[in-house]
Amino acid sequence: MKVKNHRIDSIWHKQSSNLSAGTIAPRLIVTHYTTGWSGTGSRDWLLGAAGGSDNTGTSAHVVIDRDGTAWQIAPFNRKAWHAGKSRYGSLSGLNAHSIGLEFVNPGWLKPAGDGQWIDYYGTKKTTAQLEQFGGFVLQPHSTVGSGTFAWPLFTNAQIAIGLEIARAIIAKYDIRAVVTHEEIDTRGWKTDPGPAFPQSTFVDLLNPGADQEGDPRYTVNTTRLNIRGGPGVEHDQVDPPGYLPLGTVVSVLRRSGNWAFVEVAETSGQPDAPEIGVRGWVHGGYLDMDFGD
Ligand SMILES: [Zn+2]
Repeated sequence: MKVKNHRIDSIWHKQSSNLSAGTIAPRLIVTHYTTGWSGTGSRDWLLGAAGGSDNTGTSAHVVIDRDGTAWQIAPFNRKAWHAGKSRYGSLSGLNAHSIGLEFVNPGWLKPAGDGQWIDYYGTKKTTAQLEQFGGFVLQPHSTVGSGTFAWPLFTNAQIAIGLEIARAIIAKYDIRAVVTHEEIDTRGWKTDPGPAFPQSTFVDLLNPGADQEGDPRYTVNTTRLNIRGGPGVEHDQVDPPGYLPLGTVVSVLRRSGNWAFVEVAETSGQPDAPEIGVRGWVHGGYLDMDFGD
């Protein structure tokens, strides 16, 4: 797969009616689920009038169905409407900076108490129906509510094609991060693509050593960020310096889950600033990507 003229060369195309005028230079890939059971249904909805639907508020760049069929519904240099109010690092309003990939999946279902589950739209499904759809994981999520919810799995075919598309995009554009809709949503509403989605596999496409150009820098966004000998709070702090003060600039050398192995690249000039070159693990949630603009 290759991107030619802002389109993946080997998949179905049609242009959504729900795009902003002008062009964008994508820096991020945002992963989503469709909150739906039907691939063609979501595709036609996100195409807006071009798909025969009355949706005038949302779109995306690619919709990826459960059998591995992918539909491109916006050129990658056009601003689609998938991210909503959003922020990542020094960028906000991410529709203007990102490519949205929608994976067909209904998202969470709440337990109905009688061996059944209720989806986002209030439709009941039995456990057997969920198993037939491809299985699910049980996970809590504070945004959905208290307790545990069923999250239908994504299919291998769907993930394989999604990875191919993401790789082709990364080969063509200056993509700095692959992020979930949940992590960029500034209103705290979004839960997609959820705990059943293998986000770390997509994030790993950008790991140093993969084939990334450049060396993205990150800035510590909390007063004191503990720096540790391993990826988890059970690991001792690297001491000195013990922690990285607000404003410290680091390079990320690799990642493990939510943790990042970093090297101090610039210091903030405070008296407690660590030495340049110090290495250790920090929680990635306290690093803001520095886009230099
Ligand atoms: Zn989303």
